Amino acid sequence: MKMMNCRDAAQLMSERYERTLSLRERLSLRVHTAMCDGCSNYGKHLDVLRQATARLREGKTGGDH
Ligand SMILES: [Zn+2]
Repeated sequence: MKMMNCRDAAQLMSERYERTLSLRERLSLRVHTAMCDGCSNYGKHLDVLRQATARLREGKTGGDH
C-alpha cells in the first residue's frame, strides 16, 4: 500500500469538507494521521476551525429565532 505524504494528507483533510472522500482516501488518511503527529494535530485544528466558522455562519444567516 502506498503511503501518502504530509502534503497529500493536508490536501485531503481540507478537501473532505468540500467533497466526500473515497473509502481508499479516507483509509490512507487515517493510516497517515495515526502515524504522523503533525497531520493528526492539523486535522484537529481544521475541525475546530470549521466548527467555529459554521457557528459564525449560522449566526449571520439563520436569524429567525
Ligand atoms: Zn503527516
